[in-house]
Amino acid sequence: MTDMNKNLRNLPGVDHLLELAKKDQKFSDIPRSVVLDSLRQTLDRIRKDILAGTDPVITDDIILENALISAQEKIKPRLVSLINATGVVLHTNLGRALLCDEALFHITAVAKTYSNLELNIETGKRGSRYDAVDGLICELTGAQSAIVVNNNAGAVLLALNTLARHKEVVVSRGELVEIGGSFRVPDVMEKSGCILKEVGTTNRTHLRDYEAAASERTALFLKVHTSNYKIEGFTTSVALKDLVSLGRGKGVSVMEDLGSGTLIDFSKYGLPHEPTVGDAVRSGADVVTFSGDKLLGGPQAGIIVGKKESIDQIRKNPLTRALRIDKLTLAALESTLKLYRDEERAMQDIPTLKMLTLPFTEILKKADILFHAIKNAIGSLAEIKFSDMNSRPGGGSFPELDLPTRCVTVQPVNLTVSRLETAMRLSTPAIIGRIEDDRYILDPRTIQDGQETIISSTLARILKEK
Ligand SMILES: *Cc1c(COP(=O)(O)O)cnc(C)c1O
Repeated sequence: MTDMNKNLRNLPGVDHLLELAKKDQKFSDIPRSVVLDSLRQTLDRIRKDILAGTDPVITDDIILENALISAQEKIKPRLVSLINATGVVLHTNLGRALLCDEALFHITAVAKTYSNLELNIETGKRGSRYDAVDGLICELTGAQSAIVVNNNAGAVLLALNTLARHKEVVVSRGELVEIGGSFRVPDVMEKSGCILKEVGTTNRTHLRDYEAAASERTALFLKVHTSNYKIEGFTTSVALKDLVSLGRGKGVSVMEDLGSGTLIDFSKYGLPHEPTVGDAVRSGADVVTFSGDKLLGGPQAGIIVGKKESIDQIRKNPLTRALRIDKLTLAALESTLKLYRDEERAMQDIPTLKMLTLPFTEILKKADILFHAIKNAIGSLAEIKFSDMNSRPGGGSFPELDLPTRCVTVQPVNLTVSRLETAMRLSTPAIIGRIEDDRYILDPRTIQDGQETIISSTLARILKEK
């Protein structure tokens, strides 16, 4: 008891500690408020320990050392770069598309200085931020008009709100999807102020279902790309162009939410055919929406293309201002889109496209480099093998598609696979692999050049610590 009181009395004051920290080089980069917070927390913790009956050794140095660790933790960035060894190219949790170098240069260039974001340089008058990309988007998709907003969820909300508020929107029951991250078609529709009119069944919807549902209250026929799942077997859905002809006859507009939306016909590169944005535009849809950071491989953005009349209406909606795209995104989007003028260049320079279509021979080379880097670093601390498996495109593109890959698998001799996975994840940089059949799996498809050595040295450190 007396010890406890004595210990509490002997705790140094926070002002005294702060003075010491001020003179300590190790604290020099840490803001005073953070140091103070950390010192208080450290003292609190010690006080609790004393009250709980322990008899801790307390010196100024020990307290400062503990406070330094907690202060460093506090100033560490929360959003950090990491290594994606999952093989999922558009990994929603890992930031979806990587930007191309051109986009990065462009972002830096317009971020460091003033820009003509909303100035028409020729006339000296006010310009529109959308001028940077709308012409380019029309050129690449064949659309009459285009506008870009913050993301595709916003694009869908905005388009529905503009074209169908207080009116009915007819959607197939097979397309009332949830995309993840709480984007659900019926909920977005409700928020946009329109009335959902479901037609057909989960697996089959016919043109006559849309026809029967259309009335004077109908503003829109909506098609939604079932991005992240696939219905197989006895199924029917209505082609966009058929819906367009029906809509024309009835005076109902037609919109398609393509979700991922690609400008490239991937069937040329050995992947399944996905209708391109150009296909949707040619089908005659009034409005087509898609993401900037899925198959397009650019920054997060929502792109809306379509008939001039519809896009003009969308531009005038006050919601457009609330959802407007930021200048850094605009810079990245313009640079990414420009690459599409030369498809070969796009396939090489846009990381998403490159990773998705990486030839198997290239995967083998990458797997080999990874395998040998690991083998050299860890010797016999784990069993290392090749395993032919599948990567996934991810990001709601190409649902259920398997991309053949060759993974490197690691089975530690004296550590469980799940502890290895955790330790890799908690390293700096974090390395995200996966576990399958009690093996730790590294897929070279999404590992960037040069990251092999980080992976192997991290593995070596973890396995040698054991
Ligand atoms: C991904 C997706 C969305 C949401 O797009 P974000 O760019 O993530 O906002 C909407 N609709 C479909 C069909 C999608 O696949």
